[in-house]
Amino acid sequence: MEYISTRNKNLKYNFKDIFLRGLAPDGGLFIPKQIKKYSKDEIKKLSVLSYVDLATEIIFNFCSSSIEKKKLKNLIKKSYQSFSSEEVIKLKKFGNLNLIELYHGPTLAFKDIAMQVLGNMYDEFNVSSNNKVNIIVATSGDTGSAAIAALNDRKNINVFILHPYKKISNIQRKIMTTIGSNNIYNIAVKGTFDDCQKLVKEMFSENKFREKINMSGVNSINWARITCQIVYYFYSYFKFQNKKVSFAVPTGNFGDVFAGYVAKKMGLPIQKLIVATNENDILEKVINTGKYKPTKVKPSLSPSMDVQISSNFERLLFDVLNEDDKKVSIFMNDLKSKGSFLLNKEQIDFIKKDFSAKKINDKETIEIIKGFSREHNFVIDPHTATAVGASKDVKDGSEILILGTAHPYKFLETIKMATSQKVEIPKQIAHLMDKKENYDILENKINDVKNYILGKIS
Ligand SMILES: *Cc1c(COP(=O)(O)O)cnc(C)c1O
Repeated sequence: MEYISTRNKNLKYNFKDIFLRGLAPDGGLFIPKQIKKYSKDEIKKLSVLSYVDLATEIIFNFCSSSIEKKKLKNLIKKSYQSFSSEEVIKLKKFGNLNLIELYHGPTLAFKDIAMQVLGNMYDEFNVSSNNKVNIIVATSGDTGSAAIAALNDRKNINVFILHPYKKISNIQRKIMTTIGSNNIYNIAVKGTFDDCQKLVKEMFSENKFREKINMSGVNSINWARITCQIVYYFYSYFKFQNKKVSFAVPTGNFGDVFAGYVAKKMGLPIQKLIVATNENDILEKVINTGKYKPTKVKPSLSPSMDVQISSNFERLLFDVLNEDDKKVSIFMNDLKSKGSFLLNKEQIDFIKKDFSAKKINDKETIEIIKGFSREHNFVIDPHTATAVGASKDVKDGSEILILGTAHPYKFLETIKMATSQKVEIPKQIAHLMDKKENYDILENKINDVKNYILGKIS
């Protein structure tokens, strides 16, 4: 399979290239030139597979040029060994809602499902055998810990994680700052998540610095992450065959819900993909009104969705604009120079065939957690709560599957505001709670961060 950029269809890369590069050289996002569409018979055959076998079949479509199938299967199997659910995910039924718990990995958020596989791919491609790789990540909490768990103790890889000082949950910080060994560096930046992301982007765009430290990234624009997330749409759909099925997805960077869209393109008969946002509602706005205009990030009770520049939306934009790479470039240039772009009615209608969107604010989030606990005696986390809220309006008779993206224990402070119901501490992190935390606090200054990194790797 060949890969192109959303801003240049003439590029030709293989899977290994795009995995290691992350972002296309023209600033666009990598996408496959063609996506395999399964026939009904083929889908039926997939429906009886175990999670690992299904993941192997699906992911192999995207990386067959770079990994043998047998190796891929072993790699996936290894990736999910540490999960506390044998099936990797768990499905639970609550009245007419179905919850897909995606948070049984080592750091209790769905990001483990892709990140664990990515960690093993770095080994498979032997990228670090003669040149140490330095992976720099900005995080609002979950990406960082998932990356640490996946890359901890790997030979010839260092990981530098930038998180906004005092702006993530205590448990999120504890997981990040206690599981690491000596190839992991946690930096608390005196600023916001936006500032962290800006620092990382600045370092990526400084060619000399990037080459000097052999810099790499594992953020959610990496296509490899999307491929791993397609799998659980198929796997959970198969539990509801012959029914109309819609998925409600807590959304930030549009990666997870985009994986659902790819599943649909591959032939999975999904009715609707429901995009749930918090008060950072750029996606709700663009889907309902056509206007894509980032504003300043507002901190919310669902911090992992506090995103205003929703990078993966560019992949959908490519389809909306009839796969016209020149047009995508124009839209993205407009965004850069004018701070926004606008879709017309036809383009909005194109999106609405597959997506709907709803914003859930913090007050509603608390009410939803409270109501769910009262009604079902079960605690959901604030991100998952937005998806529960967004699915309420769907009345087309489809079975609703909620993507449960994080374990509630990670957001205990918020849970306590909503309910007195106890949440057991998950065994994955119980042993971390009284371990010593390791992190350094830096000013929000690019030179301070660069010097810190250079100092650690010299
Ligand atoms: C990252 C994250 C999201 C948002 O996923 P995107 O792929 O960025 O849309 C939602 N919930 C949780 C708990 C997350 O960690």
